Amino acid sequence: MARIIIMGPPGSGKGTQAVHIARHFGVPAISTGDLFRAHARDKTALGLEAGGYMDRGEFVPDHVTTHMLKQRLEDVDAANGFLLDGYPRTVIQIGALDELLAVRGQALEAVLALTVPDEELLARMLLRAKEQGRRDDTEDVIQRRLELYRDETQAVLSAYLQRGILLTIEGSGERENITTAAIAAVEKALAS
Ligand code: AMP
Repeated sequence: MARIIIMGPPGSGKGTQAVHIARHFGVPAISTGDLFRAHARDKTALGLEAGGYMDRGEFVPDHVTTHMLKQRLEDVDAANGFLLDGYPRTVIQIGALDELLAVRGQALEAVLALTVPDEELLARMLLRAKEQGRRDDTEDVIQRRLELYRDETQAVLSAYLQRGILLTIEGSGERENITTAAIAAVEKALAS
């Protein structure tokens, strides 16, 4: 069983990669963005609270996000392993995840970081907006999400780099090649 995080700017293809990588390791891919979208669709109290932040491209407050993740990690399929997509995004969330795992006597094994040039990201996201109609894929909101990734999430990458568990993967190119490279990097980390 593996406990892995996948990180990457909006539009880096991390959601797609997460599904394939998680399948390989036999763990659920847990995307906080997808969880929020499901809550928003179902108009739950949490969904209504998160919806406004998402529509503006802002982060949903840490305590709301962490509470939602804690509940999801309690599901049986996540008992021994998971691939987290989109969490942690802030330094506060790193600490919250450490605590959630410490209670379970578990540790993170690897953090995958997908890198994609900025100009490619915007193009990919505008295409996704057309294909999937995500309501936070407008140009202004996309710019804000890219900016937040640069400003807030870089600190998360640095923290995991310092811990020695960050694996950086080139995220442009063929989907299959990226998946293969990511799986190989995680397997190497698990074996060491
Ligand atoms: P994503 O699908 O990962 O791009 O997430 C879509 C939106 O959900 C983000 O723009 C945030 O508003 C919200 N979101 C997802 N994950 C988090 C998180 N870890 N912390 C705060 N907000 C989040």
